[in-house]
Amino acid sequence: QMEDKKKLQHFASRHSVTPDGKALRLEANISSIKELEIALSSGANGVGLFRTEFLYMDRNRFPREEEQFEVYRSVAEKLGGDPLVIRTLDVGGDKQLDYFELPEEDNPFLGYRAIRISLDRTDLFKTQLRAILRASVYGQVKLMYPLISSVDEVRSANRILNEAKLELEQEGLPYDRGMKVGIMIEVPAAVMIADMLAQEVDFFSIGTNDLVQFTLAVDRMNEEISHLYEPFHPALLRMLKLTVEAAKRSGISVGVCGELAGDMRALPIWLSLDVDELSMSAHSILHVKERLLGTKQEESRGLFQQLQLCRTSTEVLEMLESFKGEPK
Ligand code: PEP
Ligand code: MG
Repeated sequence: QMEDKKKLQHFASRHSVTPDGKALRLEANISSIKELEIALSSGANGVGLFRTEFLYMDRNRFPREEEQFEVYRSVAEKLGGDPLVIRTLDVGGDKQLDYFELPEEDNPFLGYRAIRISLDRTDLFKTQLRAILRASVYGQVKLMYPLISSVDEVRSANRILNEAKLELEQEGLPYDRGMKVGIMIEVPAAVMIADMLAQEVDFFSIGTNDLVQFTLAVDRMNEEISHLYEPFHPALLRMLKLTVEAAKRSGISVGVCGELAGDMRALPIWLSLDVDELSMSAHSILHVKERLLGTKQEESRGLFQQLQLCRTSTEVLEMLESFKGEPK
């Protein structure tokens, strides 16, 4: 992997654009400061998913507003003017906190987690929102809510966001009034009402890890059924299409931040659907960029229509494999 990195390193400073001029932002998913360094050295165009869980996991109590603010601010500053999408707390499911007693659940991924906890524990939520708002003046900070499944959840979250803004104003603390607010699309219900959700937010980011799990009813952690976890399943292609089309019709931006974003085989799909950005594990950026620099968007025109005729993941993958971008 070190070898690879060296070979690809010269791509870091190259602009992320296809040979025929389609710019596609390649951003990083990070869940620690260390990963931020890798992202920066790989020439990431920003951070498309800042998983804030680690701030809550590396200690024995909830992080205070000030502690969170310092971290968010420092990441925003290190990114210069590049976007930083901060996702609010997404614990529950596979992620636990020692000091926060979560109920024993039969189906934790379907349970008390992510935005559901935030909307229940609005004290914790507002602390995080205040910290993010305060950091927003130090860079291009955007806010993102995880696991949204209804318009009500977005409105409730935004109501608390507005309270936080009001408080900061009263305290004379600055924040970016234009801070963009988006949601993760990772629950099939959100896909089905994507047109309605698009009216409420500034951007979508498709979380394929959970979306595959929920669409196929396949626990993403269960080894017993890992062969059924198929990101290229035709059902998922339809989910992607509905989401991207809804975003485009409403004129909001749409990106992808699940593992699939960093899967080189999927790049022609993103070009064909014309998504705005891909956020991936920092280690994948240079690999995806190498392919992006050698693939014309024009050639992927019509590819998605063809893919939609495939009836199995195997057929989808075969078609993607036979799709050749131009060599660099
Ligand atoms: C996802 O679900 O695709 C995602 C990016 O979020 P996480 O992997 O943190 O659940
Ligand atoms: Mg998720």
